[in-house]
Order: sequence, then C-alpha cells, then structure tokens
Amino acid sequence: MHTNSTIELNTTAYKNNLSFLRTTFGKKVQISCVVKGNAYGHGVREIVSMAYKNGITHFSVFDVQEAKDIIEELQDKATVMVMGLVQDEDMEWVVDNNVEFFVFDKGRLTKAVKTSKKLNKKAIVHIEVETGMNRTGFEKNALNSIIPYLKKEKEYVYFKGLCTHYAGAESIANYYRVDKQIKRFEEIYQYLCKNDLKPEIKHSACSAASIMFPETRMDMVRIGILQYGLWPSPEVFVNYLSTKKSKIDPLQRVITWKSQIMSVKKVKIGEFIGYGTSFLAERKMKVAVIPIGYSHGYSRSLSNQGRVLIHGQQCIVVGSVNMNMMTVDVTNLESVKKDDEVVLIGSQNDIALTIASFSDYSNQLNYELLTRISKTIPRKIIE
Ligand SMILES: *Cc1c(COP(=O)(O)O)cnc(C)c1O
Repeated sequence: MHTNSTIELNTTAYKNNLSFLRTTFGKKVQISCVVKGNAYGHGVREIVSMAYKNGITHFSVFDVQEAKDIIEELQDKATVMVMGLVQDEDMEWVVDNNVEFFVFDKGRLTKAVKTSKKLNKKAIVHIEVETGMNRTGFEKNALNSIIPYLKKEKEYVYFKGLCTHYAGAESIANYYRVDKQIKRFEEIYQYLCKNDLKPEIKHSACSAASIMFPETRMDMVRIGILQYGLWPSPEVFVNYLSTKKSKIDPLQRVITWKSQIMSVKKVKIGEFIGYGTSFLAERKMKVAVIPIGYSHGYSRSLSNQGRVLIHGQQCIVVGSVNMNMMTVDVTNLESVKKDDEVVLIGSQNDIALTIASFSDYSNQLNYELLTRISKTIPRKIIE
C-alpha cells in the first residue's frame, strides 16, 4: 500500500445523500446501493459498512468477487445481487450464500436449477428482460421458452425479481427510447402475470431514471452515482432543480483525494516542461511536482488540463501526466513548498474542485474517473 496520497470518505455527506434519496423515493421503494467498480472508486468495504450503518441492507454488484467482498464485510446481514457475470464455477457459492443474481439466458437458469438440486437450496433469481438497450436480457421468444421451465422448477428457483436497464436515461436526447422501454417493461410484466408467473418485485431504475422518470422507481431502485453525491449528468441535475423551489444541490460529495507536494522548482522562460514538447514556459515559472500519475488513476488525458488545489487556489497541470508524477503550475503562489497539501478531488479553504469539473476538462464521465482511482490508495472514513 502506498501513501503518496489518501482518500477520505465523509460519513456526514454520505448520510445526507442517503436521506435525500429516502425522502425523494418514499418508504415503499427499497434502495439497492450499487457498489460495482470498487464502489465507484470509493472502496467497496468502506462504502458497504457506511451504508449498512445507515440502514441499507441491499447491495448490487457486477460480479461474484465483488459479492464476496461484501459478504466478508457484512456476513449475512445484507442481501447481495449480482447484476452481471456469474461464472459456472461460482454458481455453488452464489446459491449457497443466498446471493441473488440476474438471469438473462437459459443456460444460466438451467445451471441455477442444477446447482439448487445439488445443494438442496433455492436459487434466487432476477429475470432480466430486453426492452431496448440490446445488451443483456431475454427477448420475447426466449422468454416464452423459460415460462414453463420456471413454473416446473419452482421448487428450485425463486423468481424474486423482474428487471431491465435503460439505455441512457441521463440525457433528454434519449427520452423517446427510454419511454418506449418503460412501456415495453410494463407489457412484459403484465404478460408474465397473465401466465401465472408473478415476481415478488420489479425494478428498473438507475440514478438517472429514478430522477428523470419517477414511474421507473417501482419496488426497488438501483442507485450508484447519486449515493456518492454526484449527478449522472448536468441534465439530470437541472431537471431535478426545475421541479424544486430551492436551487441548492441536495447532494454532497463523499470523496476527497489528497496528496502533498514532493518538490518545487523554477523553470526559465523558453524551456519545455516534462516529456517532449507539449508545454512551453512562455514566462518564468514555478512548478510543483506531485507524486500522482496515471498508475494511481489520474488519467493521462488530464495532461495540460487537469486542475488541483494548492493553498486554496486552482493550479493547472502542465506537461503530461506521467506514470507516477505530474507537474502543476504554482507560479502565482508565494510561499509554496514541499509537503504542502494538494487536493485532487475535494475542497480546500472553501474552494471546491468537483469531480464534474475535473472531468469536464478531459471529456470523461464522473463514473470513469472515479473508478480509475487505484485500489491501493488507503481509504479513511471521516466522521
Ligand atoms: C451501474 C448500474 C446501475 C447504477 O447506475 P447509476 O447510474 O450509477 O445509478 C443500475 N443498474 C445496472 C444494471 C447497472 O449496471
């Protein structure tokens, strides 16, 4: 574990976000916290334990390794749902630990039944249906073929949920497509019910859908980005504000990423900074070297673009982001010196560097920047 930088997770902010979500969705809608991608870079164990302390008992992940991390942290106190990949060799562990999982092809369903018979324990499945994203999910024909199978094997598979996922609910441009998906999903649900196959719950919403299309909340919402205090896109935020009197952001960023200056140097006019010739000093400059690079998840595409905070001021990255280091312009900072605090994401002296603005410079989504942050950086939960 390296200590070139640290990540702090703010308990108060996290609590605030969950309570905003609860108020928005109401008591009848269960919140499943999506913690794939190392909890969007925050640290899965830390987030899961904070969430559990705040009353969250349902978690969604992509794969079985992530499910194992949660169960190690919380034992059987929480329900875990795998939305993506379950390899055949993991099926026994999954069924044995009551881990719920998406089923989107017949092969997985038969594997689940087989495993259940072997362990004498029901597999708990969420049937994912295709509504228009064209990624995973049963098509109508395939669905018809599993209906009799699900009924016949009901001793072995528990049909807990019916689900789908929307193709871009964070953008108004996709309104028509998502709206069609919502209608399609309801039709499929009705169709199954007519065929005497009624799931215990149905769920479809991610963060964006839960705000933009309230009817998608149904019995459960699968919330990723909002719990971390970020909006899926500026459009979703604006859409939310347009329905409210107060124009204050109800969310608070949970993550702060900090480092320290490792060295400061002066650069003469006319010199290039770093590898190659991407940055030319057009005046006398002072640069600070920071021991963070793309190997820690600070994207190389932030070369000559990224911003950090030092002494409460925004400083721009000059030259290219290297594997383990980058240089920032501190020409205007008077007494800057080695060991001074550098904020990569977060606030300093009331100036905030949001992840959104950090990603605006690189045309990357919040999601991608966060999940790139190296797992090896120590995470600290701050009260
Ligand atoms: C990632 C994911 C979510 C959560 O998405 P957010 O936009 O972060 O809320 C929900 N459902 C599925 C299937 C996902 O893959």
